[in-house]
Amino acid sequence: ESKEKDKFEGTWRLFKLAVPLDQDPGKDSIHVSDALLQQIAKVLKFPVASLLPAEAFTVVRKSFDARKKLKEPKFVHTVDMDVQKLISLEPRCWDFISRLEPKVGLVERVHDERDFTDLKNIILDCKENKEAALAGGNGHSIFSTELCKNQASRKPKIAVVGSGPSGLFAALVLAQLGADVTLIERGQPVERRGRDIGALIVRRILELESNFCFGEGGAGTWSDGKLVTRIGRNSGSVLAIMKTLVQFGAPKEILIDGKPHLGTDRLVPLLRNFRQHLQDLGVTIKFGTRVDDLVIKDGHVLGVMVSESADKLRSTSKKMEYDAVILAVGHSARDTYEVLHANNVELIPKDFAVGLRIEHPQELINSIQYAELASEVCHGRGKIPVADYKVANYLDKEDFHEVSNSGVGNRSCYSFCMCPGGQVVLTSTSPSEICINGMSFSRRASKWANAALVVTVTTKDFEALNYFGPLAGIKFQREFEQRAAMMGGGNFVVPVQTVTDFLENQLSVTSVPSSSYRLGVKAANLHQLFPMHITEALKHSLVTFDKELPGFICNEALLHGVETRTSSPIQIPRNIESYESTSVKGLYPVGEGAGYAGGIISAAVDGMHAGFAVAKRFSLFHGDV
Ligand code: FAD
Repeated sequence: ESKEKDKFEGTWRLFKLAVPLDQDPGKDSIHVSDALLQQIAKVLKFPVASLLPAEAFTVVRKSFDARKKLKEPKFVHTVDMDVQKLISLEPRCWDFISRLEPKVGLVERVHDERDFTDLKNIILDCKENKEAALAGGNGHSIFSTELCKNQASRKPKIAVVGSGPSGLFAALVLAQLGADVTLIERGQPVERRGRDIGALIVRRILELESNFCFGEGGAGTWSDGKLVTRIGRNSGSVLAIMKTLVQFGAPKEILIDGKPHLGTDRLVPLLRNFRQHLQDLGVTIKFGTRVDDLVIKDGHVLGVMVSESADKLRSTSKKMEYDAVILAVGHSARDTYEVLHANNVELIPKDFAVGLRIEHPQELINSIQYAELASEVCHGRGKIPVADYKVANYLDKEDFHEVSNSGVGNRSCYSFCMCPGGQVVLTSTSPSEICINGMSFSRRASKWANAALVVTVTTKDFEALNYFGPLAGIKFQREFEQRAAMMGGGNFVVPVQTVTDFLENQLSVTSVPSSSYRLGVKAANLHQLFPMHITEALKHSLVTFDKELPGFICNEALLHGVETRTSSPIQIPRNIESYESTSVKGLYPVGEGAGYAGGIISAAVDGMHAGFAVAKRFSLFHGDV
């Protein structure tokens, strides 16, 4: 019998356990409720649910499902079952467990049962998922014992440029492995950055180095803090990032929530804790310090030229020498791209997407998504999450006979960075350009819902406007950001148009519906802002989206211009294993700005992997442990 028991021991994962809304204990609960035990009992065919010990089960995912075809809305859970604990607490379960049949997507054996207790294990986990390959090793810990670390005679000096998610995680891994790390950030720490953003919103003062894009935490700090990613929610690396965020103060719910998000109010203290931890590890952090140039000799980076900003004055550039430079500058550092180009660092233009940000009353989105249940949303205080949406439309050439010389076909139009209960914010980094995005607080309690609606663009689009070469995508972005600034009439006023007017090519409404954007909006002919094929793609898709979300096209829906920085317009080619630039030795381009990530989590994962690659390069751990 003991052999038979071995077969079932360990952890089993039970999927699709649905608990009706009215039986759920509360939005933030990660406990195993009685209602959930009932569902577990059904799967195990165990007759008395109340005899099942809740301690033997852990919720690993919980998502709200209110699709219209369902009879009633429900929370759908994935639960891990610790068989040993279960049997020791309730031996009568054994008979039922021994009859359990694995079924993909319903009941599965979990093979990796690592318990994450501290940062060491978190980083270890990611090592085994990806870094084992880099280390060329057999997957043992590089952190579990000091012996695994090489006792380097001289610590390598590494500069990490940029304190966004990718830079922070690269710095964390390298510092943890004993490198001498300097984190260089052109913007300010979150406390001061918050005041600079306040001055922008209240007094229209745009600090060029401290704003929605630049500063501690990078572009994602004053954001919605959505932690969803397309790179595999359950991968060890993503879990490692999420668990690290929990270590730094994020609520545990992000580990199980089907659509985890933090909100700015949680990100700010989290970043303070992250900073403190890096400093405790010996990382030197230089805020208000911009990398103005690279020091390169014989194709090898030897350091960086930096200048400091204080009270609107900028110091002269000084040289700082490093053994390696991790470039984690994000995709708004246009001046830094120019520096790279001038230094012959290979850059290639990359496809991205541009468009407009649409805003609706949140109540309308709630009622489109939840029908009569919408009244229970309670501004983020109730069990039901504030409603979001995600729409996408593939555009076929055939759809556009009427658009002459269109170039509209074979593109996608999709919603991007949807912020329920959020606000539209200014993400320009120059006063002559308007560029917007969305942010929210953790409760998502504002009365507006906004999302970008963007259309894919390629080098062909850049060339059509006579923009060529590696920086063509940036010129293309800038063109529309400047057009938007002109249409808004200056002073960071954003041009807007009702969806109905946009579809009709008219400006009938001069008194526009209210907007969450705090620096003012002005009615404008947004249908004239982009090339015809982009406008047509947006129009066609709006009609399609309205079929999916009836009411999406309405008088209160307001389009804001422009959304241009959806992802990097450039990629910096790098070696797949070593993460080193293919054109300059010792330079490690990472994160969104380098074209290897899109969003907080994927940028963090890329930075973490790059940290391991650089550590390997400097033999900070034995490759064959
Ligand atoms: P960044 O976060 O852009 O960080 C780069 C850092 O480098 C910046 O702090 C910058 O100041 C610094 N830097 C640049 N040049 C230099 C230089 N020359 N010298 C020194 N320092 C330099 N993503 C999500 O996943 N979920 C969301 O909800 C979400 N909402 C967003 C809302 C807004 C308003 C914005 C702007 C973005 C949002 N994003 C969101 C996108 C997300 O923020 C980015 O994908 C992510 O931050 C990219 O990380 P990164 O580390 O690659 O670069």
